[in-house]
Amino acid sequence: MPTAQRDPDRISQQAVQQLIENSKVGFFRVNEREPVSDDDPPVFVIQAKLPDRWEVVAGSSKREASLRLVEAIYDGTECPNCGRASAVETEYVDGTPMALFAHLCWMYYSTDTDSFTRTCGGPI
Ligand SMILES: [Zn+2]
Repeated sequence: MPTAQRDPDRISQQAVQQLIENSKVGFFRVNEREPVSDDDPPVFVIQAKLPDRWEVVAGSSKREASLRLVEAIYDGTECPNCGRASAVETEYVDGTPMALFAHLCWMYYSTDTDSFTRTCGGPI
């Protein structure tokens, strides 16, 4: 059985940005921290104001920080189509993610549409 390929860099920033825009984010800011020394890793911080709370996430790239924001926004929310808890797959998976499929509605990146889709086929 072939192993699923996982690669977060294959998820387009445009697809991630679309999920963020769909979430009713108001204020949104991305800051790149200036490195103090050559050994410092890059750090991107995102501040986002949702209707009911703030989310602040960080990552070593804008994409990584954006994917963490998407997880913070959507993980555990109820799917409007199937009623299961939503879970965001933050890596590109060559095939549909199946872990806990009976209990979770996975939101995963599809290269066919260059966007995220749900395993139940419902709207994002
Ligand atoms: Zn669903």
